[in-house]
Amino acid sequence: MNPSYQLISLLPPPLSNLLEQVTLLANQQGTALWLVGGVIRDLLLGVPLGRDLDLVVEGDVAALSAALVAELGANLRAAHPEFGTASLAFDLDGAAVVLDLARARREVYPQPAVLPVVEPATLEEDLGRRDFSVNAMALELRIVDGHLCAGEWHDPFAGQADLSQRCLRLLHQQSLRDDPTRLLRGVRLAARLSLHLHPATQIQIRHALSQGYLGLLSPERILGEICLALEEPQPLRLLAHADAWRLTPQIVPGLHATPHLAARLARYAAHPPRSVVLSQVVAGLLCYDLTVDDLHALTQRYPLPSPFARLLSDVPRLRDLGPQLHTDLCPSQIDQLLRPYSDVAIHVLHYAETGIAAQRAMHYLEEMRPLRLPLDGRDIQRLGIAPGPAIGKILAELRTAYLDGVIQTREQAEAWVINNR
Ligand code: ATP
Ligand code: MG
Repeated sequence: MNPSYQLISLLPPPLSNLLEQVTLLANQQGTALWLVGGVIRDLLLGVPLGRDLDLVVEGDVAALSAALVAELGANLRAAHPEFGTASLAFDLDGAAVVLDLARARREVYPQPAVLPVVEPATLEEDLGRRDFSVNAMALELRIVDGHLCAGEWHDPFAGQADLSQRCLRLLHQQSLRDDPTRLLRGVRLAARLSLHLHPATQIQIRHALSQGYLGLLSPERILGEICLALEEPQPLRLLAHADAWRLTPQIVPGLHATPHLAARLARYAAHPPRSVVLSQVVAGLLCYDLTVDDLHALTQRYPLPSPFARLLSDVPRLRDLGPQLHTDLCPSQIDQLLRPYSDVAIHVLHYAETGIAAQRAMHYLEEMRPLRLPLDGRDIQRLGIAPGPAIGKILAELRTAYLDGVIQTREQAEAWVINNR
């Protein structure tokens, strides 16, 4: 069945208005536009659309993107004229939507697992270079009587039928050898959309893993996929899929889904933090039970951005803090234990632990860390202390006294400084 008419009507109105304007401009330039990839898949499934939409352009990408910037106020985020690609951000009622434009292309892989050589091609060839049948459908956008309408529909690999059976299928035998990141894209998609593997694809995956194709990829490319995985809404589900595919040991040795990890991620999902980067918290929770050797191997293997590297190096110490936070401690002792760690690390500790330890971690973040003393360094100088290390020492002692309730007011703090100088 050709679903193209329904697809246009399923677009959220702000998006369909935007695509209408984009298509009008494209048509003025004699350029044809095709909606492709994830957006088609997600519309057919009735799941929320991602923020990035892919459009294949049969025409001049640079000229179209210049018109989108000039006429629609788009923000050009990236452009590679040599590959015929451009990425443009639009503001839709305060939310950013990104359109990724690309000239129809074929890809030639000179060697396995390296970036392909790209050449202009037909739309059919462009669909043939894609990863899975469910991502290889295209709908032409047209303007009829001034309104956005469906044009031609292309589904050369029966992606629609696969989607209705929730089946994930690679397009050709060499696919995972050409680009082993498809293993990681596939597991992300299968977990997110509850897709099962086509039997032939399952065999290809087993073969790719046994041949060590993932090892042909640069660590940067694997890390890129890991970062996308960390942003998925259900990390445990994704990990369970990766375990079932026997993928995890080749990516993060030592990691696997356990009931412990499930409980931690459930606590996180029930009350996600608001003030820190969620993917960092998820990474910390996933790695919480890794051995010191496995953690070290991870930091050696991948060029981790510094917040992730710091978090992973903190994990063994955070684990030791858990039991300590269950013992009898006064507020200043908790402050001293937790002060060296980032907000992200303390969130990880909060979700990883239970009972009083979890409560203390959160209390520290919400109440103790932001606490301001009634006196600052300048006040202390005014009370007759010479600038220098003594001021820092007094401030630290004052903080202890204040946290433990020995000092409660500014007057008491001043008297304390005068008596202790
Ligand atoms: P998501 O919702 O995760 O963004 P998506 O399918 O839109 O899913 P993108 O990474 O945005 O994924 O890629 C857009 C499209 O480009 C895909 O649907 C697929 O057709 C194609 N594509 C992306 N990466 C690859 C790849 N490594 N190999 C083949 N095709 C790819
Ligand atoms: Mg996408």
